[in-house]
Amino acid sequence: MAKTKQQQLDEIRQKMIDDDPIPALKAGAHQPVFGEGSPDADIVMIGEAPGKKEDETGRPFVGAAGKFLDSMLDMIKLERQDVYITNIVKYRPPDNRDPFPDEKAAFLPYLEAQLDVIQPKLTITLGRHSLNCFLPDLSISQVHGQPKRYKGRVFLPLFHPAAALYNGSMKQTLIDDFAKIPLILKKLATS
Ligand code: URA
Repeated sequence: MAKTKQQQLDEIRQKMIDDDPIPALKAGAHQPVFGEGSPDADIVMIGEAPGKKEDETGRPFVGAAGKFLDSMLDMIKLERQDVYITNIVKYRPPDNRDPFPDEKAAFLPYLEAQLDVIQPKLTITLGRHSLNCFLPDLSISQVHGQPKRYKGRVFLPLFHPAAALYNGSMKQTLIDDFAKIPLILKKLATS
C-alpha cells in the first residue's frame, strides 16, 4: 500500500536524525524540532531555527513569536492544524544565534523533501534567512507580501514574527501582509 504523507514525513524526520548533518548542533540541543501540522496543508510556513521554548518542547514557534503567529493565523480564520509549520534548521543553535550558512545548507535537503511530500499551494518564508534559502537574490524589505514563483513553487516572503514583534511599523506591515494570504490562495486556486 502506498505510504501516507504522514508516514513519508516521519521517514524524512528519522533519516535526518540518523544522518545527523551537523553533529555539534544536535549535541547542543535537547531534541529535533522537525515541524508539525497537516501533511495536506495548502500552506507551509518556514522559520529559521528553533529557539529555547521550541527546543524544550520539540515544537516549532511556541514562544513569543509563535504566539504572535497564532494570533495572525486566527485573524485569517486558520488554526495551526490547518497549516504546516517548520524551520530551515531543525536543532536550536546555541544561545539563539543566527544559523550559519553551512547549517542552513545542511538542513535544506530535508526541508525540500518535506515540501515535496506536502506539495503546498503556498510556501511562506518567515524572515530573510528562510527567504534567501530559496531565493538568495531577493531582499525581504523589497519583496515582503509579494508572491514569487520559483521552480514550480509559489513563495510568499514575510517578515519574521520575532523581528516584527518589537518593531511597531514592521509589525503592522507583517499583519497587513498576512491579511493578504486568503486572497493570494484564492487567486492561486483559479490561476
Ligand atoms: N523562530 C523561528 O524561526 N522558529 C521557531 O520555531 C521559533 C522562533
